[in-house]
Amino acid sequence: MNVHIVPARAEPAPVLSEALLRRFDAPGPRYTSYPTADRFVEAFGPDDLCNALQQRTQGAVVGGTMPLSVYVHIPFCDSVCYYCACNKVITKHHERAAEYLDALDVEIDLVVAQARAGQPVSQLHFGGGSPTFLSDAELQRVVGSLRRAFHIDECTEMSIEVDPRTVTPERLASCRALGFNRISFGVQDFDPQVQIAVHRVQPFDSVRDLMLAARELGFKSINADLIYGLPRQTPQSFARTVQQIGELRPDRIALYAYAHLPQRFKPQRRIVADELPSAAQRVAMLGDAIAGFLGRGYHYIGMDHFALPDDALAVAKRQGRLHRNFQGYSTQPDCDLIGLGVSSIGKVGANYYQNAKTLDEYYDALRQRQLPVQRGIALTRDDVLRRAVIMALMCQGRLEFESIELAHLINMREYFTRELEQLQPMAEAGLVELEPGAVQVTATGWYVVRAVAMVFDRYLQSDRQRERFSRII
Ligand code: SF4
Repeated sequence: MNVHIVPARAEPAPVLSEALLRRFDAPGPRYTSYPTADRFVEAFGPDDLCNALQQRTQGAVVGGTMPLSVYVHIPFCDSVCYYCACNKVITKHHERAAEYLDALDVEIDLVVAQARAGQPVSQLHFGGGSPTFLSDAELQRVVGSLRRAFHIDECTEMSIEVDPRTVTPERLASCRALGFNRISFGVQDFDPQVQIAVHRVQPFDSVRDLMLAARELGFKSINADLIYGLPRQTPQSFARTVQQIGELRPDRIALYAYAHLPQRFKPQRRIVADELPSAAQRVAMLGDAIAGFLGRGYHYIGMDHFALPDDALAVAKRQGRLHRNFQGYSTQPDCDLIGLGVSSIGKVGANYYQNAKTLDEYYDALRQRQLPVQRGIALTRDDVLRRAVIMALMCQGRLEFESIELAHLINMREYFTRELEQLQPMAEAGLVELEPGAVQVTATGWYVVRAVAMVFDRYLQSDRQRERFSRII
């Protein structure tokens, strides 16, 4: 089946076919980091993070250091969504938050002890789980602790993920008063039957009222997450959701493919497999959604993301200033990232790390006043080089040999002989153009850009490993 995308004002019109997606959309990582988190090792622990933080601080003393980004993970949710693949704790006991916030305070103290207080933060993100599981007073407490530890001002991008079922316009006003200026709504699908099938019922009217309130409150950027491939979705029902989202006109839209992996994610076992759409239906939904967003004036940013032309992400893409971090695409330059909370991932210098994944382990470490780092990786020279290549492809859709050669002192054609050969079938299929000194991802190639990036991933060796990742169909 071929899906011809309706030409949009400023965007090239890709043609995605089921055959093309089957051939090139191999399951693969989203490259919010390279190496990806599944390559982290337990040999990397708290002492390694301490060293990295101290080196960062020394760098700041001798002059200049990377800006800082902070991510706070709030793991709790009131009820489970059956498609969920996040690290979360389902509970109705809101009093559990108090113990967690005590632990977060200890973790913040330990980080600041190594990294110096008052460092400026350019980006602060609350994710989960559901950050809005916390009451207004609890959110205020966490933001207060962060403001005492770091320098956060009106220039800081402060964003929060919101479960529409847990907030009211008044609660959004409270978030705004705390300094949050960006907001992301988990919408997924507006169809009542789909919402029942995934155990996440949130009527269109309530989401509409919240988005209107967020706009009136002056949130600078409003994002909506959608998922296609959910049970009981059809191309017709999903087209209605796309139309409804178009009416709400969020600044950004993230459109994710549902990956049904019930062996790995327990909640997904409650999804009735027979109710899942077919591969052809998934391709139709994706194609129609892309056409719908482009036709309504959205720009395609890159893997899964769309934005209105005046949104900072779209502007950054036009100006070649797009970056990628654990929260996806970003306008912020390559930041060090402090990940706080259970399972959070961070990056300091040429190191990635991840905190303990269970609350018990997380609390245990902090009771001993130890950073709760459980694993991580110190990047090799090859990792740093390949990260630059992969991020250039994922963010700019273009790999300029000269800039990589100058920065990493290699010869691209010699170093990546095998990889450049592997791009040849993609070039023949019209996904990339191989120029004498560059690789250019085409308009169609952008929609399978991770497959292009995967060619340069040294760690992806067996198909068996790849099956752990999601794909379009
Ligand atoms: S999808 Fe979000 S709100 Fe639903 S269970 Fe998962 S983390 Fe919680």
